[in-house]
Amino acid sequence: MNPFDAVIKQLDIVGEKLKLDPSFIERLKHPRRIIVVSVPVRMDDGKIKIFTGYRVQYDMLRGPFKGGIRYHPRVDLDEVKALAAWMTWKCAVVDIPYGGAKGGVACNPKELSRSELERITRRYTAMILDEIGPYKDVPAPDVYTDAQTMAWIMDTYSQFKGYLVPEVVTGKPVEIGGSEGREDATGRGVAICTREAVKHLNIDMKGLRVAIQGFGKVGKAAAKVLREIGCEIVAVSDSKGGIHTPRGLDIQALIEHKNRTGQVAGFRGTKPITNEELLEFECDILVPAALEHVITEENAPRVKARIVVEGANGPSTPGAREILNKRGVFVVPDILANAGGVVVSYFEWIQNLHREHWDEAEVNRKLEEKMVKAFKDVVEVSREHGVDLATSAFMLAIKRLADAFERLGLFP
Ligand code: NAD
Repeated sequence: MNPFDAVIKQLDIVGEKLKLDPSFIERLKHPRRIIVVSVPVRMDDGKIKIFTGYRVQYDMLRGPFKGGIRYHPRVDLDEVKALAAWMTWKCAVVDIPYGGAKGGVACNPKELSRSELERITRRYTAMILDEIGPYKDVPAPDVYTDAQTMAWIMDTYSQFKGYLVPEVVTGKPVEIGGSEGREDATGRGVAICTREAVKHLNIDMKGLRVAIQGFGKVGKAAAKVLREIGCEIVAVSDSKGGIHTPRGLDIQALIEHKNRTGQVAGFRGTKPITNEELLEFECDILVPAALEHVITEENAPRVKARIVVEGANGPSTPGAREILNKRGVFVVPDILANAGGVVVSYFEWIQNLHREHWDEAEVNRKLEEKMVKAFKDVVEVSREHGVDLATSAFMLAIKRLADAFERLGLFP
């Protein structure tokens, strides 16, 4: 299914459950603004190449547009629209004052030099410059963009304005206004949601066995924090394959091994496992933190974990979620589980606007508060309506948007 068609279908279902005015749901099916630009860039060989860039500003009922910029060959309008809609729901679930947006440039960063990437970023920024801004639309990193990309966007924007504007992007390097704790924020949020899920189900945290797919920014940080709070990480994988051990991994040593060799495979004292096997591994908690649609209707019946915490965006297909629910597997959905990143982005924006710099302990404490509150809110809606957490998170988001719409009304 086209990812944006899935968004529309979900909206219809939730609109009916919440008994919302269908014309409000209709409004939410349309992004407020779609920007498509042709980005001409001089390549290292002197030739000019044209890349297509997108920015979809989905909704601003609750605050400025907010969302990442992705560089990937498969970036297209339907994907960006769906991701922009998800950002809108995610910001509403964790109750931060942002709308939702997403952007991207269709390119293959693996085939581009650093200077080509810089020129693409700066030209793309210049072409959407009038539409972004600290109170308008605040981009952040996404797949194959990083803190350096944000620094180039910030500098380009600032050059046009004539003064430094750190608050135009989040996820920047700490030296130029980035927040402490941002790098680990999504993984930390995943760990907090896992702990809350375990508490909710009345299980003892100590010694629970966790399998994590993906050992990138999200997977690594989730592994670190889950270990700190008493879990045993018994299986981990990345794009080159996975490893498992009955005793639980030394995460710090594994991170050093991955930094040294570029993979988790071959880590001392472990046995190899494929990515498919990892998803069906004998464990208590499964954290898919790599790719979309890895848990499908085909493998969902074989998932052994009691709890699935969706670190990645869209790791389970809607059909897979249904199967997991029927089997009694407790699923913490992506728009709640991986919202820690955008929460700390919001903290970064506040720090920038006030020219403040908070220490990591303060950022983590505030993140903890936000995530615990969001988890409780989602559980409450789930109890009230007798629905699973994925449905209740979505219902909570749409209800908050509907409340804002009711107060603001429709112009003119
Ligand atoms: P990343 O690029 O840092 O890491 C991705 C990891 O997935 C890597 O370890 C990679 O080797 C692994 N991977 C790639 N292909 C794989 C495959 N076929 N099988 C198993 N592993 C594979 O990315 P990230 O920032 O950690 O993001 C991971 C997911 O979390 C994505 O879905 C992303 O959209 C989502 N997410 C990230 C953030 C954030 O703040 N970084 C926030 C919200 C959601």
